[in-house]
Amino acid sequence: MQVGVPKEVKVHEYRVGLVPASVRELVQRGHQVLVETGAGTGIGFPDAAYANAGASIVPDAETIFAKADLVVKVKEPQSTEWPQLRRGQTLFTYLHLAPDREQTEGLLASGCTAIAYETVTDPMGGLPLLAPMSEVAGRMAIQVGARCLEKEAGGAGILLSGVPGVPPGRVVVLGGGVVGSNAARIAAGMRAQVTVLDRNPRVLDALDREFAGRIATVYATAEAVEQAVVEADLVIGAVLIPGAAAPRLVSRAMVAAMRPGSVLVDVAIDQGGCFETSRPTTHAEPTYMVDGVVHYCVTNMPGAVARTSAVALNNATLPFILQLADQGFPRALTENAYLAQGLNIHAGHVVHPAVAQARGLKA
Ligand code: NAD
Repeated sequence: MQVGVPKEVKVHEYRVGLVPASVRELVQRGHQVLVETGAGTGIGFPDAAYANAGASIVPDAETIFAKADLVVKVKEPQSTEWPQLRRGQTLFTYLHLAPDREQTEGLLASGCTAIAYETVTDPMGGLPLLAPMSEVAGRMAIQVGARCLEKEAGGAGILLSGVPGVPPGRVVVLGGGVVGSNAARIAAGMRAQVTVLDRNPRVLDALDREFAGRIATVYATAEAVEQAVVEADLVIGAVLIPGAAAPRLVSRAMVAAMRPGSVLVDVAIDQGGCFETSRPTTHAEPTYMVDGVVHYCVTNMPGAVARTSAVALNNATLPFILQLADQGFPRALTENAYLAQGLNIHAGHVVHPAVAQARGLKA
């Protein structure tokens, strides 16, 4: 099969659908991989690395869309890419179609088969192709939070780890799922004093076992959240109710009651955020102040560490890409029910129930 990797065209997107190690796996199995020149340059994967892995470097995206049976990307295709996709061609990437009518129309008109990373499932009912980005964002939340606590970033001038004779900073994590547990790991690794709040007793139990007393776990009643937040130096917002806006756990009054120079990192901002005072920010201007409290609310945190994110994403997508390349469409989906959950659009029809519902249709 011909597998194509165009360079991402969305502004400030440096990740790439296939890293050279993934290309090599495909080539070893007899597939031909076409990579647009410069596709990985921004994250230290030059054309030569792709050529060494066995890829053919092509000068433009048009050649890739014209030749490839399977197109592998990271971000949803942009309006310039929709008309280049075609019937009989499979697209595998993040799509997030439900709120995006224009893109849905573009993909329907192209006739292509579009499989979305974010709706591929695993045997536990999880979303294995979203998890790597939550891992990245959770770990990064502590890194950026620690930085925001520094004086010239607006913070209280607190070193999270403390030093001998000075107690560590207090980190409160709201939600102990993929983002929250990864934030807790890094915060505990930095020797901060960590409390994780969640409403799922199984989540609290798993964290309690993992950390064996190194962190505190607390059931997230409104009272417990309030108490923890006003005493914290750094609060990480990491709650998720699947398919819904993030619950607003922290009111403006609670933010006002925090010490000046405390920091909020609202990772859940991509679902609306869990602090009343949150509004989306970008990597160019990631923070703002409300009532003396530093707010970091970047919606695409993994973009800042695009190399790590691209490799982590490839680790999760590669088995599905190999299956799609080896077996093609539709066989790969009949053989793999979890991959089949990823099918959003096929030959001019919306196939995924959530996307269909968003358009007022039945799948
Ligand atoms: P997850 O489902 O693994 O974890 C969410 C946790 O929140 C669950 O354990 C759940 O029990 C808990 N929860 C739900 N309601 C709660 C409540 N009222 N009180 C306390 N806990 C509650 O989800 P995740 O993968 O960790 O993602 C968390 C959020 O981070 C999502 O909104 C996701 O989209 C977002 N995210 C953002 C970025 C970014 O760049 N900003 C990157 C990755 C993920």
